[in-house]
Amino acid sequence: MNSYDVAIIGSGPGGYVAAIRCAQLGMKTAIIEKYATLGGTCLNVGCIPSKALLDSSHHYEDAVKHFEEHGIDIPSDIKVNLKQMIARKQSVVDTTTGGIDFLMKKNKIDVYQGLGSFKDATHITITGEETTEIEAKNTIIATGSKPSNLPFIKLDKERVITSTEALKLTEIPKHLIVIGGGVIGLELGQVYKRLGAEVSVIEYMDRIIPTMDAGLSKELNKVLKKQKFSINASHKVKSVERKGAEVIVKADNKKGEEVEFKGDYCLVSVGRRPYTDGLNAEAAGVKLNDRGQVEVNEHLQTSASNIYAIGDVIKGAMLAHKAEEEGTFVAETIAGQKPHIDYNLIPGVVYTWPEVATVGQTEEQLKEAGLEYKTGQFPMRALGRSRASMDLDGFVKVLADKKTDEILGVHMVGARAADMIAEAVVAMEFRASAEDVSRMSHAHPTFTEAIKEAALAATDDRALHI
Ligand code: FAD
Ligand code: NAD
Repeated sequence: MNSYDVAIIGSGPGGYVAAIRCAQLGMKTAIIEKYATLGGTCLNVGCIPSKALLDSSHHYEDAVKHFEEHGIDIPSDIKVNLKQMIARKQSVVDTTTGGIDFLMKKNKIDVYQGLGSFKDATHITITGEETTEIEAKNTIIATGSKPSNLPFIKLDKERVITSTEALKLTEIPKHLIVIGGGVIGLELGQVYKRLGAEVSVIEYMDRIIPTMDAGLSKELNKVLKKQKFSINASHKVKSVERKGAEVIVKADNKKGEEVEFKGDYCLVSVGRRPYTDGLNAEAAGVKLNDRGQVEVNEHLQTSASNIYAIGDVIKGAMLAHKAEEEGTFVAETIAGQKPHIDYNLIPGVVYTWPEVATVGQTEEQLKEAGLEYKTGQFPMRALGRSRASMDLDGFVKVLADKKTDEILGVHMVGARAADMIAEAVVAMEFRASAEDVSRMSHAHPTFTEAIKEAALAATDDRALHI
């Protein structure tokens, strides 16, 4: 039987990064994946394919809506080739997952294909084409998550679908009904909106992206309405029925009146649930909590002391970069180091256009904590860069401690916000004040000038260009 210092169950961004870091630290490492390709949700049916389709659909939308104004004449019968768009997405996925195979080989990590199941705390049975057993001194559970559903919805995966099917449709929906105005619903909703679908978003809470700063929800809501999305917040979905090629969704609005939505596809995007099916966690003494997450302590150690868990299968944000940080954290912990993660500084991004990005505390959280803070906000439309590219929507908001001026949160909607948020993360990691950021030179013309201006506004209300 093969014996390892560390075995990792699951090869998503949590698992494969943990494996690389373990190998870098000199540990004999194995990774177990039940699917034929490595990379987990993120690479196969998550981050990467969704961004590939967002990019393709963005090009199409630009061609249809903006090329003429830029002085580029194109034929009036420009068309979407959905088959090619989906094929390109798949080739991006294939290249990316192939890259993980390369990294596993490069780092001399043994890859086992099959379902990993605990026999006890130091033995794992792997059921693939053949059944194998391995021994591991330490194990990292990185089994990720699967889409959640509402109890009364039957997902037929043809017309009542999850994100996985939405990434490989064979036709553009005429009317896509999206249940859940969170990250997946808005990103994939925007893909099909750009390609010509009517899109209706039904959200249970009183605003879309309800966990983010309310200012971001309001701005994104405004922009999406301009893009002709139908946004229906404070709606409680009560039934989803498929009749042939039609899907009928009934919901109660805020006043308790029934509203009916008729479409040809319904995307259910109401969150994801931790995935531990077939893991046989009990056999290893690993406890789950009442939400089905693997219970961990501050070292990400489970109730079995040689078994750790990371990523979507434990508490916290379900984000690839959070899983990656935890993978590194656990590898270094096993190696006897003392790593650290500041969960407050894990950024969140919605890859709609304009993009939404956030780090640190929201205004709602600061108010609830009773902290005194000041706000500096700067609109993207006041930037020369925004006018040059016609990306006028959005703003950057800097929240800083009223007394010390330390930055407590940065929230933005705008072109390239996903990349810009890194500046705020760096500043906050080094506990910068708003004035520190306002005194740093930002290249002109760039979108990042909005961060400097918002920091100036937070320092003492002295933004320069507004
Ligand atoms: P996963 O990536 O879910 O990987 C777990 C792996 O474990 C899977 O491959 C699974 O097959 C395997 N596995 C499970 N059980 C076993 C077993 N018993 N034996 C063997 N293998 C097993 N996050 C971002 O940060 N940015 C984004 O832009 C983004 N976009 C997304 C878009 C979509 C449509 C979706 C669905 C998700 C997106 N996410 C995004 C979330 C991101 O994909 C997850 O947070 C991330 O993949 C979690 O990583 P993980 O390693 O914890 O688990
Ligand atoms: P989410 O939590 O972002 O959004 C789910 C939405 O559904 C919420 O707004 C919630 O209020 C709403 N909802 C819940 N129950 C409802 C109901 N009964 N009726 C109507 N609305 C309801 O979850 P998601 O969009 O499904 O994404 C799942 C996970 O994947 C998220 O945790 C997210 O972090 C991750 N993800 C991240 C990215 C990214 O980083 N860009 C992209 C996609 C997914």
